[in-house]
Amino acid sequence: MIISRKARELTPYVPGEQPGQQGLYVKLNTNENPYPPSPAVEDALRRYRWEDLRLYPDPCSLALRTTIAARFELPVEQIFVGNGSDEVLSFAWYGFFDPENGPVLFPEHTYSFYPVYCDYYGQPYERIPLASDFSVDISLYLERMKEEYAGIVIPNPNAPTGIAISLQEIETLLQATEGKRLVIIDEAYVDFGTETSVGLIERFPNLLVVHTCSKSRCLAGLRVGYAIGSKEVIQTITAVKDSFNSYPLDRLSQKIADIAIQDDVYYDKIRDMIMATRRWFAEAIRKEGWEVLPSQANFIFARYPGASGDAVYHELKSKGVLVRHFGHPGIEDFLRITIGTDREMERLLLLMKDLTCTAG
Ligand code: PMP
Repeated sequence: MIISRKARELTPYVPGEQPGQQGLYVKLNTNENPYPPSPAVEDALRRYRWEDLRLYPDPCSLALRTTIAARFELPVEQIFVGNGSDEVLSFAWYGFFDPENGPVLFPEHTYSFYPVYCDYYGQPYERIPLASDFSVDISLYLERMKEEYAGIVIPNPNAPTGIAISLQEIETLLQATEGKRLVIIDEAYVDFGTETSVGLIERFPNLLVVHTCSKSRCLAGLRVGYAIGSKEVIQTITAVKDSFNSYPLDRLSQKIADIAIQDDVYYDKIRDMIMATRRWFAEAIRKEGWEVLPSQANFIFARYPGASGDAVYHELKSKGVLVRHFGHPGIEDFLRITIGTDREMERLLLLMKDLTCTAG
C-alpha cells in the first residue's frame, strides 16, 4: 500500500523504557513527579460518579478554565486547555506559523518536540546557539530577528539544561517582535523556581505562555496542559482545536485537573521537597567531580569528566536506573537526570560514586 511521503518521513518516538519493562527501573528519564497526586485528587476519584462517563464532556472545559483564569486574575477567554502541553503547542504551531514567513526560532538544545512539530507541519526552523555557559542568549535572537522569522519558542527554564532567563530578557525579546510574530514561552517547569511571564501578556498580546499539569501537579498520566494568552491568540488556537476535535479533554481529566490546580498546600509542599532534593543531590555529585548546570527545573543536566555520557548512561541503565542521554553534538556527554525521591537519588548517588566505565 502507498503511504504518504509525509508519513514516511516521520520518526516515531522511542521511549527509553520498552513495553513490559515498566517497574523494572528507577525511572529518572522523563521528568515525571516522583510523588503521587494530592489526597484531594484521590478522594475525587473515589467519589467520581462513574455513570457520568456515558455523557460527552463539556467541549469548552469551562469549569477548569475558570479555575485557571481565577489563579491568574484573567478572564476565562484568555485560557485554553488541551491534552497535555504537547497538544496545546501543536495547535499553536498550526495557528501561527507559516513557512512563507521564514523559520521558527528556538534554542539549539531544547525540547525535542519543537523540530518534530516543524517537520510535521512542513515548517522550517532555525536553532539559535546557546551561550558558552549553556544559557539562552537573547542578544543572538535580537540579531537574528532583523531577518524574516515565523515566530519564537523558548522554554523557561530551558529543557534539557534547566537554566532560566529573566522576565526582563523575555520583555526585551517581545519588544523586538513589535507585536508581529507569536512568541511562545513554554513554562512546563516554571513551578520549580522561575517566575511566570503571564504578567507580560497584557502589554504583549503576541505572547503565549504554556503550562502543564504533568510536572508540578503530578498528573502526567492524565494529559492536561493549558495556555494563557490574549483573547485574540486564544481565539485562534480554539478555532484550530475545534476544526480537529471539539472535545479536547475528557470529563475525568477536566474534573481531576481542576481539583489538583486548586490544591496549593499539597503541591507547594512537594515542590519544596523536590527543590531540596535537587540542592543536596547536585552538591553531592559535584563533590564526586561532576559538572552540574544550575537548574531551576525538576531535573539536572550534568556530565562526568572521566567518562563518555553514553558509557555512563549504559552503566546506570544496566544497574537499574534510567536517565536521559541525548548524545547531540555539543552536549554529548551530558545526562538529564529527573529529581526523584530522596531514596531514589541516594541509590543513584551510590552508583555514581562507584562508576566502572572509563573514558570513551
Ligand atoms: N514542554 C517541555 C519543555 C517539556 O519538557 C514537556 C514534557 N517533557 C512538554 C512541554 C510536554 O508536556 P505535557 O505534554 O506532558 O504537558
